[in-house]
Amino acid sequence: MRKLFPQHGQAHSGVMDALRKMKLGDSDWQNGRVPLYVFDGGQDVFDIGRDAYFEFFKENALGGRRAFPSVLQMEMDVIDMGLDLLKGPDSACGFMTTGGTESIIMAVQTARNHARSSRDEPRLRGNLVVAETAHPAFDKAARLMDLEVRRTPVRDDLRADAAAFEAALDADTIMIVGSAPCFPYGVIDPIAELSKLALRRKLWLHVDACVGGYIAPFAAMLQRDIPAFDFGVPGVSSMSADLHKFGFCPKPASTVYYRDADLAVHHGFEFDAWPSGTFMTNTICGTRPAGGVAGAWAVFQYLGLEGYQRVAGEVMGFVDEYKRRISAIDGLRIVGDPHLSIVAYTSDTFDIFAVAEELKARGWVPGLLQKPRAIHQMLSLVQARALNDYIADVTEAVAVVRASPAKKSDITASY
Ligand SMILES: *Cc1c(COP(=O)(O)O)cnc(C)c1O
Repeated sequence: MRKLFPQHGQAHSGVMDALRKMKLGDSDWQNGRVPLYVFDGGQDVFDIGRDAYFEFFKENALGGRRAFPSVLQMEMDVIDMGLDLLKGPDSACGFMTTGGTESIIMAVQTARNHARSSRDEPRLRGNLVVAETAHPAFDKAARLMDLEVRRTPVRDDLRADAAAFEAALDADTIMIVGSAPCFPYGVIDPIAELSKLALRRKLWLHVDACVGGYIAPFAAMLQRDIPAFDFGVPGVSSMSADLHKFGFCPKPASTVYYRDADLAVHHGFEFDAWPSGTFMTNTICGTRPAGGVAGAWAVFQYLGLEGYQRVAGEVMGFVDEYKRRISAIDGLRIVGDPHLSIVAYTSDTFDIFAVAEELKARGWVPGLLQKPRAIHQMLSLVQARALNDYIADVTEAVAVVRASPAKKSDITASY
């Protein structure tokens, strides 16, 4: 039945009680039972992000230029600090957005319009060449702008294949994409090879570092084996990097960067053919939470490079332990060789989805991959708290499945 609009208002406490009661039906993410959507860099990082968010709870980032210079300043600071981290040259620029999807849609739009104007083909339809592992945000962008997406198979190591890209592209290609890392397998695509292709064929290379942008640089500082993926690679034209994932900033917050301000001229939207005069935005959204901007600024100030390295060390230490203990369970193996904090595991001897069903019955929300069938998690300190319980339940689930191998699973993969 459709919920009726209430006739009378309720007391604050009654409304809050109702909210808390509704929450009881949610998955127990606080105790690590949700494999994505939530991120944790420690209670202190959460606290500073929340406090900053609520300090700017009522302001509107849309009004940064005219009413809230503090918000505009924080936004510019975040972009400067991000470019410092990601080796942006002096000519580079960037913008804050409300999420990875918005960053990607903006970058695709900018690249498409850049191609239309630089090739003097104002009606060019354009296509994107991406690996099959690229995020669906590229297809969403393509649907909005009527572009074609060409998904190419990955190599045996599950990373994008530059040769397959070259075979798929043509004169109408407006962008090629590498992920750092891709969501399904957590591996960083060979950005240096894609860069060579981009430079040789004069193509726009976008690096989707939505997951890795704010953890890969720190993992690299900790001497982990992280392939180059940022503006230090010469053919990279643009990048998306999510603050609200492994930047451990409050949602919604992401960044999109361009190597050169000349590439970004088509990024902004400006309009004045209406009674209210000039309307200018750098996002798809109009009104945007200033809290997301303040939260990101505050977390950067609070952690600094040293704090981020400490948190990255904690996360990666947990990931190492997770991989070690999963691999130690007979019949399980890690899919590929993930570079960062996304890990999938599968089995060559029994149905891994049957294991997932057993985990679901034990209160875990299983992340799933369909190719290959695998159990998938995007790990931060949220899941670290639950490691012992998780490993115990996986061990038990595997034993149950081994004992009844004929049992069929009917669970399906979804994001
Ligand atoms: C999460 C993600 C995105 C999209 O980000 P949202 O903030 O969910 O819009 C893009 N690319 C990759 C690799 C991601 O993991």
